[in-house]
Amino acid sequence: MTAYPFDAPASQALLERALAVTPGGVNSPVRAFRAVGGTPRFMVSGHGPYLTDADGREYVDLVCSWGPMILGHGHPAVQQAVAAAAAKGFSFGTPSENEVALGEEIVRRVAPVEQVRLVSSGTEATMSAIRLARGYTGRSIVVKFAGCYHGHVDSLLAQAGSGVATFALPDSAGVPKEMAAETIVLPFNDLDAVEAAFAERGSEIAALITEASPGNMGVVPPAPGFTEGLRRITAAHGALLISDEVMTGFRCSEAGWFGLEAGEQGYAAGAPDLFTFGKVMGGGFPAAAFGGRADVMALLAPVGPVYQAGTLSGNPVATAAGLATLQQCTPDLYARLGEVADALTAGLDEHLSAAGVPHVVQRAGSMFSVFFRDGQVRDYDEARAQHVPAFAAFFHSMLSQGVYLPPSAFESWFVSGAHDDVAVDRVLAAIPAAASAAAEAFATIDS
Ligand SMILES: *Cc1c(COP(=O)(O)O)cnc(C)c1O
Repeated sequence: MTAYPFDAPASQALLERALAVTPGGVNSPVRAFRAVGGTPRFMVSGHGPYLTDADGREYVDLVCSWGPMILGHGHPAVQQAVAAAAAKGFSFGTPSENEVALGEEIVRRVAPVEQVRLVSSGTEATMSAIRLARGYTGRSIVVKFAGCYHGHVDSLLAQAGSGVATFALPDSAGVPKEMAAETIVLPFNDLDAVEAAFAERGSEIAALITEASPGNMGVVPPAPGFTEGLRRITAAHGALLISDEVMTGFRCSEAGWFGLEAGEQGYAAGAPDLFTFGKVMGGGFPAAAFGGRADVMALLAPVGPVYQAGTLSGNPVATAAGLATLQQCTPDLYARLGEVADALTAGLDEHLSAAGVPHVVQRAGSMFSVFFRDGQVRDYDEARAQHVPAFAAFFHSMLSQGVYLPPSAFESWFVSGAHDDVAVDRVLAAIPAAASAAAEAFATIDS
């Protein structure tokens, strides 16, 4: 593997310990730096917009724990809420008030969500939503889009985004053929393909699941009218529409991508039946949710026949963190996230253009990413047709200058309310040298 100039001895030592006890030395694959090379940084602390690694180097963090840290690291209101909750005990295995309050906050924010069930990860949320949709419709086929990631649910790993995209895997070993056969994978932003699939097998389809605005193949927003079209087609065939807002929920607006795209009125053709949430709503702790139409949610145990459960679901400390985080997610916060994204995307565009680097910066609310290629990216095939070595060169230049980007060309970048002008200026100052490194990679490595 290529040696990088600022390799980190303390992180390297931790990596060697980790490799002895954990496959790849990591507990989630993309963290391993396999796609960009070099030593993954082991972080020891986070404060506001910054992370500090084991070698004592500070980085402006543009990963924000892959989305949850929307207020920055160690926000005092969240710290207080966590400390207060933990002082009362860690887990009761009974209902408790915090989980009710978090459920109320979600229902208040996202109009079509009438009821929610809390779980501990986004994967659990999508897995449970799929089971519920199958229970409700009595059908088994699920439709998903290539490049969308919905957690590591067996039936949803086919042509998935995130780590599956980062490592260029078609799907995952260990998923039975029978299960993969229950999934239809279509190109994103292609309503004709959706029409055709439903025309052929509509009566067998339980649900179509989509990332509300995909961020796991890089940022690829739905074209105008696409989500509306999904609603129209699924409704016409009696299938449920599941909007996966694990990444976009409470990130793109107070009511997530739904609030940004559909507004309070919803789509003319109606709202999605079910939503999944995670990331921001846990404030950095394991809390996630699925919810939607009350008549569908009424099928869940103990009311209905679809079983779903969790020892730590609605954990009082995690839900306190999530609620305190959402309480800080005000219109002012979203305005600031927008300003930071404006400044960074403008800087990226300016300096990559100046260096003659083919690129397109795409955005959904304050989420954005850069594809190292010319022309808009509308689906996974177009996302894959980028120059990955140019991304790796750009990434390592930024890292060596103290900016922590996602170590993958197929992930969204995230900002927080703690990214003040000092942090933004540090990122902007690093971009020209990184743009030159990307230009050099284009010149020396065939795409
Ligand atoms: C992160 C993510 C998931 C999975 O959530 P985990 O908490 O990692 O299991 C599911 N869907 C989308 C859209 C995500 O971004």
